[in-house]
Amino acid sequence: MTSKSKAQWQQMAADLQIESRAFINGQYVDALSGNTRQTINPSNGDVLADVANCGAEDADIAVAGARAAYESGVWSDQSPDARRAVMVKWAQLIEDNADELALLETLDVGKPISDTTGSDVPGAIRTIRWSGEAVDKIYEQIAPTDKDSLGLVTRLPLGVVAAIVPWNFPLSTTAWKLGPSIASGNSVILKPASNTPLTAIRIAGLAKEAGLPDGVLQVLPGPGGSMGAHLATHMDIDGLTFTGSTPIGKKLLEYSGQSNLKRVFNELGGKSPNIVFADADLDKAASAAALACFYNGGQTCTAGTRLIVEESIHDEFVAKVIEATKAWQVGDVLDPATTLGPMVDKSQFNTVSEYIAIGDGEGCTRHGGDSNVFPDSGGHYLNPVIFTGVTNDMRIAQEEVFGPVLAVMTFKTKEEAIAIANDSIYGLAGAVWSRDIGTALSVAEKIRAGTVGVNNYFGGDITVPFGGFKQSGNGRDKSIHAFDDYTELKTTWINLE
Ligand code: NAP
Repeated sequence: MTSKSKAQWQQMAADLQIESRAFINGQYVDALSGNTRQTINPSNGDVLADVANCGAEDADIAVAGARAAYESGVWSDQSPDARRAVMVKWAQLIEDNADELALLETLDVGKPISDTTGSDVPGAIRTIRWSGEAVDKIYEQIAPTDKDSLGLVTRLPLGVVAAIVPWNFPLSTTAWKLGPSIASGNSVILKPASNTPLTAIRIAGLAKEAGLPDGVLQVLPGPGGSMGAHLATHMDIDGLTFTGSTPIGKKLLEYSGQSNLKRVFNELGGKSPNIVFADADLDKAASAAALACFYNGGQTCTAGTRLIVEESIHDEFVAKVIEATKAWQVGDVLDPATTLGPMVDKSQFNTVSEYIAIGDGEGCTRHGGDSNVFPDSGGHYLNPVIFTGVTNDMRIAQEEVFGPVLAVMTFKTKEEAIAIANDSIYGLAGAVWSRDIGTALSVAEKIRAGTVGVNNYFGGDITVPFGGFKQSGNGRDKSIHAFDDYTELKTTWINLE
């Protein structure tokens, strides 16, 4: 819950000055072509800003500036302590402007203001601060060599890194990428999603204010299919970190192979299992099942979209989940009581609506799902849908819907629950609910996913790594392990004779 009322947020929105230019070599600039692209408020269809729409020519300037900054050592050769100080100051400036950033994110993405004030912005602050604070506490290694030699194992920055992020958690994913990559000494070019660029643009100016040298952070709004692909095939970019869909993640690996074999770390889609045993705390598990699927309108990579319930409690548990879903109904995103905003755009609304029709066509039973909410708002709203009678071979159980659509299935044995959970091309997240710690831990251990909750969903913070198995990706954001994605291991062998 935020400290401001809906009326105060509305007033702040009316007064908001929005920076919509690219940030290149320490300056806010228009695209060289002068092209812009409108960014739209998903909750009412209003145009928020005409954003610089950068192309390959802008990208080349940004890459050259990033390379020059890197080679000059103005940041990369700074002591870890000096880098720490700038990162921590940057985090503080983000915190000082937290309400403005939360509002920008709410308006740009259509997220409820209670989400952006309660999670997205505080999470980004903690990520930047934690990454800065970590960098002067990481030790390097001396290898166990014979006495005549000294083997130093050190970590160097990759050099110039491109980061490409999606629209569903723009500020969070931006912070997950920028925190460890910049703290490690790289120069970084961030490409935000075309429909949600505003918070990334804003925090770039705050980075400069904190003392980050020009060229170390460039923010380039522009189309992924052309400008993003140009970055991914660029011969002078050393690393590419990506959060987005699995098909684009596959393309980026191809682009790397076609260009300079830049390091590619992908955080991709998911279809995560949420397994509930009969002995679980069913009230807690039911409210978490609704949260797991409907938070952010289901537009969440880790959403618990496959609810796998022990057969003996199916009817009782589904009734509890339906009851819990009453807490997830669409509303005005500037009202602090709202939990569910609109779909990000019409295309996403159409995709989700198609999946609801697919679920109907696959013979499942549908609960909820009135799709014509706020028809005159200019936004595209969908209330939660629960399908029961689902089997794991159905499309709504296998494909990432990216909307508030829950698929419920049943199991009889622990082994069957594990088999259903792992029968997916994805392996991003999951959860298991049981009061029997042996059952819970043995199932958690067998689920092939990067993060598994035991008696919780969405648990975790910056201290633990986040990423996927299988087609959910190969990199790791967050924690000290994220630094591995932005550094090269180097051996220096010294002859002591
Ligand atoms: P997307 O279509 O893959 O786009 C992600 C980013 O890639 C955008 O900035 C996009 O630019 C850019 N892009 C598109 N085509 C490109 C290309 N050929 N070359 C280089 N860049 C390109 O994904 P999305 O629809 O924005 O986001 C939803 C997806 O992200 C879901 O699958 C979700 O599961 C996943 N996700 C994963 C995580 C995780 O941590 N694992 C977290 C959040 C989201 P444009 O905006 O200009 O198209």
